[in-house]
Amino acid sequence: MAEIKTDRILVRFGELSNKGKNRNLFVRQLIQNLKYQLSNYPDIRYRNQFDRIMIELNGADSDEVLERARHVFGIRSLSPVVVTPMDFELINEASLELMKQEKVGTFKVDTNRKDKTLNFKSNDLNLSVAKTILSQTEHRVDVHNPDIRIRIDVDAEKASIAVKTVLGAQGFPIGVGGKALLLLSGGIDSPVAGYYTMKRGVEIECIHFAAPPYTTIQALDKVKQLAEKLCVYQPRIKLHVVPFTEIQLEIYKKAHPAYTVVLMRRAMMKIAERVMHENKMLALVSGESLGQVASQTLQSMASIQDAMDGLILRPLLTFDKNDIIDVAKKINTYETSILPYEDCCTIFSVTNPITKPKLKIVLLEEAKCELDELIDVAYKSIETTEIRYHQETYL
Ligand code: ATP
Ligand code: MG
Repeated sequence: MAEIKTDRILVRFGELSNKGKNRNLFVRQLIQNLKYQLSNYPDIRYRNQFDRIMIELNGADSDEVLERARHVFGIRSLSPVVVTPMDFELINEASLELMKQEKVGTFKVDTNRKDKTLNFKSNDLNLSVAKTILSQTEHRVDVHNPDIRIRIDVDAEKASIAVKTVLGAQGFPIGVGGKALLLLSGGIDSPVAGYYTMKRGVEIECIHFAAPPYTTIQALDKVKQLAEKLCVYQPRIKLHVVPFTEIQLEIYKKAHPAYTVVLMRRAMMKIAERVMHENKMLALVSGESLGQVASQTLQSMASIQDAMDGLILRPLLTFDKNDIIDVAKKINTYETSILPYEDCCTIFSVTNPITKPKLKIVLLEEAKCELDELIDVAYKSIETTEIRYHQETYL
């Protein structure tokens, strides 16, 4: 018999799979996102099979496709499958070959007959396949807690066989939830906030505030690298870079030192809000976490939020730093985030920032600075690039 190769990948949906009208939208977006992520493989075909999607590989490498597809949000699990004609002998042979490629352990066969008119029972096929495997390999049966579940779907013409199931990225397909603007610094938190936002089906663009020459080109490069790492989930991400130096200098020249951080953040919000509306985005996203630093107390966040109209999402609000770090490691941004760098916030940092600013005083301090025109100029000087997925980044 010819070597058995998995020629399809079965995609099972995540949590939205059976929700009425949303379902169609969800599935259409998921297929579009898969096509986008797998555009390097033009021969792949996608079959929408109501409660799942079948990816027909047509020669594309199963492992490579699986590796890409498992980062696509909205997928609960994926299985490489082999399709054979509906014939016990061929099904037995294919199952045996697949099991020979697996580490020896326990298994269970689960047959699902889609066509109930078939002239045999599911259990007949379960037994037949199990017998073949038991007689020719070291695998053992365990029907309660098997290491491997051999899933066989049969209809009158064909059978599809899966022995391996890989966990998907979960969440919702990017795009079903609109678009938001991520405030991306070079730190650990904001890329993680971006990850969680995309995971809920929201497409992102990024905005970064740079203060050249105080912040270097390397610092900006690091931000680009972080955006690139997020491209494993969303293959193209727009990055808006705002020249922020003049605004910072004005604030540090005129305002009371304890208030500079809050004022700087307010200026960031004003600019981000414009970019958000201009590009029809629905929210800002920040990596703030309650109590982490002086500018992340409830009082500070309220004073900062006051500067803009609209929604600010803070996916990490209640996270402990250690938990954020764990996720950053998992999504492969941590090593980049901890590279030494200067952020515009650290360059101009003060020793005693106020932790519980009163809005009234914040506004008085802000009034000492002439920011409106500087904000206009900064907004008009934004440079926007598109960051793209590079396979090499992940190998
Ligand atoms: P991070 O690790 O993401 O840098 P942080 O704990 O250092 O976060 P802050 O520096 O106080 O926190 O920043 C809080 C949030 O404000 C960041 O998570 C990010 O969303 C946003 N932010 C801070 N600095 C910048 C910047 N230079 N450009 C864009 N967004 C920024
Ligand atoms: Mg930071």
